[in-house]
Formats: sequence, structure tokens, C-alpha cells
Amino acid sequence: MEFIRSSPLVPWLLLFLAAGLAAVVVYLLWRWQRTAMRLAEVSRELAQAYARDSLTGLLTPRQFERELDHAVLHGDFEGQAVCVLYTDVDHFRSTNEAFGKQAGDQVLQELAKRIQTRLGSGIIAARMVGNEFAVIVRGGLETGRHAAALVTAACAAPILVQSKAKSQSLIFTCSIGLAAYPEHAERRNLVERAAMAMRSVKLAGGDGFAEYDPLLAQARRDSASLMHDLRGALERQEFQLYYQPKIDARSLQVTSAEALIRWRHPKRGLVGPDKFISLAERYGMMQSIGRWVIEQACLQAQIWREQGLSMRIAVNISGQQLRRDDFAEHLHSVLVQTGTPAARFTCEITESVALENTAATMLTFEKLRAMGVHVSIDDFGTGHSSLATLRKLPAAELKIDRAFVIDLESSEHAQFIANSVVRMAHALDMRVVAEGVETRDQRDLLVAMGCDELQGYLFAKPMRAKELGVWAAREHEKAEALFRPSLYFESDPLA
Ligand code: C2E
Ligand code: CA
Ligand code: CA
Repeated sequence: MEFIRSSPLVPWLLLFLAAGLAAVVVYLLWRWQRTAMRLAEVSRELAQAYARDSLTGLLTPRQFERELDHAVLHGDFEGQAVCVLYTDVDHFRSTNEAFGKQAGDQVLQELAKRIQTRLGSGIIAARMVGNEFAVIVRGGLETGRHAAALVTAACAAPILVQSKAKSQSLIFTCSIGLAAYPEHAERRNLVERAAMAMRSVKLAGGDGFAEYDPLLAQARRDSASLMHDLRGALERQEFQLYYQPKIDARSLQVTSAEALIRWRHPKRGLVGPDKFISLAERYGMMQSIGRWVIEQACLQAQIWREQGLSMRIAVNISGQQLRRDDFAEHLHSVLVQTGTPAARFTCEITESVALENTAATMLTFEKLRAMGVHVSIDDFGTGHSSLATLRKLPAAELKIDRAFVIDLESSEHAQFIANSVVRMAHALDMRVVAEGVETRDQRDLLVAMGCDELQGYLFAKPMRAKELGVWAAREHEKAEALFRPSLYFESDPLA
């Protein structure tokens, strides 16, 4: 023992042991720190993966809300406003239907990429749900408006969509809503109000931009109450059809009566279709209302025929009806039951719906062609029809949109459009109807252009079926009448 204690090696041994221990501790500490750093890195990666939408790489809605919390707090601190842009890609569903889900995904990915590129690297953008995107803009209304213009531009360039069957370059439009903090909303309802502004654009037909307006909230409450009442309106027999004649531009005889729906609301009085058709479409009610319109119009045509009046009957068909597999079959059975010849029935379909070009609408068009029913392309000039697309449709008639007729006397552009529509339609063996004719000057210009039929307040407003008979008889007797309408004239079938 004494030897060990007095040995000169002992301190060295102890030093060696201590150094070894220290090395082990340092190593362990280093390993622990490395693991901790790796862990942090992994959890950061995980958080990022969690916060990103797997399709587009944009933020998830949850992460977007966190970022918005931060932006608003920061904005409060700096005295700076914050805007939220809420964007919905218009007619996205029909792209999915026509080209498949994969093609729809390509569109969303491309749009997400463009939004990020246009708005810059620091942009905070999220995919909220389906085809809806939201963007945080640090700044006031002017900055928000500028960002909205950039998003619109991002949408505007064509997108090449590739599916198994085909590849096609498509042009999209967006509906964009903007709400600003603190001007329009508090933090808790900022996103909701931007979405509300977006929906107001949608209701007006899409492809546009709107800022939040307190009246929108009022309008929403109003449409909720209208919607509530609309549910039982068909059963309570509150709908009525009015009819507006179409007049042959040369003989001035009545060729056709267009059925236009009205809702006799127990409290609000007569409600026009502009107030409830889009609501009914949104809540899937247009199918049953549309069927009722067809049935009533054909019953009326039967009554007129029995009275010896044999003009054509025209009915407006919504996109929702046209997309149904059994639309043509239902129409066929009503035509048979009421003894209405198919060639005397016209489906008025708006240009935008006719252009949808989905498998479902194309199939319906084929069936209508086979039945011999005429199709009239309504509101023509508002979409982007080409000769090629028009040729594919069984359309016998184009209706020049009222917007061009209103401007006819004052705008060379409107005259040019109307003239081009007439020439294009005639080249395709179609008739042209001008709607919304209110003045003699408009009438004269349209007749000079070669328009085939005219419709508008200058001749007659929409009226109940009985009134139409009285009106025709009265006008018939007036020597100085602007025209000589005759319900007793059988218009040439356009088959
Ligand atoms: P539309 O098919 O373009 O019908 C023409 C609209 O313009 C009608 O409005 C008509 O009353 C109005 N109008 C006709 N001539 C003139 C004129 O000279 N001046 C002015 N300022 N207006 C004129 P209405 O009846 O309010 O219908 C609005 C829209 O609602 C229709 O536009 C149509 O798209 C839709 N609609 C009406 N009935 C039905 C229906 O039964 N089913 C469907 N799906 N849509 C319908
Ligand atoms: Ca129409
Ligand atoms: Ca129209």
C-alpha cells in the first residue's frame, strides 16, 4: 500500500483517468447536442411538410391562419394594414369533368406556381380547399388591389393541360375577393369576409374582383332568407311563366314565344329570375324548377295549338339541367305527352354553358340533335365561341346579347360585333335574333344588318299567356302598328 501511495506514477494515472472521463463526457455531450440539432431539424422538416399542401406546395389552411395571426400582430405593431385575397378558379369543375382529375391537378399546380412567381418570393399563399387559394398581403387597400391584379394576370395566360386522351391549351379566369384589416374586418372574420367578397363576384358570373362591402353581409342574409322560401315554392305553386314574342324582322310576324319564369312570393311580390335562378342552381334546385318550366311551356303550346296558334316555343335551360343524363329523355317524354313537335321547341342555352364542352353536355347536345330539337345560343358575344365550336353544336339560332343592342346607336364596336355575328351565323346556316330591342333606330340598324328576328320592349314585354293572345289581336287591328304580328302564322321549321 505504502508503495502505491509513494509511487510517482499515481498522479499521472489519476490525471489519465480524469482526462479519459472528461473525453467521454465531452463526447456524450457532443452526441447529445448533435442529436438535439438533428431532432430540431427533423421536426422543422416535419412541421414544414405538415404546413404545406401536398399538391401545390402552398401553405395549408391551418398554417395560413397562423401566418395571418402573425401578420396582423406585426401590422398592429408597425401600424400597417393587412389584406387577404380569396381566389376561386372559375368553371374548374367542368375542366375536371372534361379532362379528368389529373388534368385539374395540373391546373392547380400551375396556378399556385404562377401566383408565387407573380407576387414574389416572400408571399404567403395557401390552398384553402379544392380550387380556392388565399393570399396575405402586408399593406392597405391599394397594395391589395395591386396584388389582385397580379393574381388575375397569373390566371390569364393559357395553361397546357395534358390528359390521356388529349392535350389542350385552356384559359382560366378567377373570382377574387379582398378584405382588409382593420378597415373591413377584425382578425377573426378577415378570411370569411374576403371569401364573401369572392362569392359576390361568383354570383355576378365570375371573372372579376370585389372588395368586401358591409352590404354583402346584408345581401347574404337576404339570399339565405330567399333560399329558405325557395325550397317549398314549387310545391306551393308560386312560380309563373311569362312569355315574350320573337318577331320576324321582315314579315313582322310572331315566330316564337320565349318562356320566362317569375316567382310570385307571398311577401315580396313578383320576384324576377335574376334574383333566384343562381340561388336555385347553387343549391341544386334548378333541376326540378327547370322540369316544371318545360312541362308548363309545352302545356301552353298545346293550348295555343288547339286555338290555332302555332308559333314555336322557347325555354331557357340552365347548365345544371343540361349536365343531367336524363335531360333529353325527360324533354322527349313531355313533347310526346303534349303533342309538341320537337322541331317547334327551342332550348335557349347561354353561350358560356354551351362552351363548357364537357362529356355530359356534349352527349345531351347529341341527343337533342337526334330528336330534332333546336338549340339557340343565348347571350351570344359574351363568351369566346369560335366557328369550330359553333359548328359542333346543334344550334339553329344565335341571340345577340342585349349589351350590344343597347350600345348599337352609340358604339361602332357594338355595331361591328352585331354585324360579325350576323355574318358568322348566316355562314353557318343559323338564324340571328337580337334581344332587348327598345328603339326604332336599333330596330332599323339590326334589320339593315340582316338580323332575322327581333325581340324587345319595342314590340312587347314578357306577359302572361292570355295577355299575349289579347296583345296580338289588338296589335293586329292597329293600322298604324309598327309591325303586323300574326299569331296565326306558321313559322318555317328550321330543321
Ligand atoms: P334572357 O334569356 O336573356 O332573357 C331576356 C331578359 O331580358 C328577360 O329578363 C326579359 O324580360 C328581358 N328583356 C326582354 N326585352 C327587353 C328589353 O327590350 N329591354 C330590357 N331592358 N330587357 C328586356 P328576365 O325575364 O328577367 O330574365 C332574365 C334571365 O333569367 C333570362 O335572360 C334567362 O337567362 C333567365 N331565365 C328566365 N327564365 C328562366 C327559366 O325558366 N330557366 C332558366 N334556366 N333561366 C331563366
Ligand atoms: Ca333567353
Ligand atoms: Ca339573353
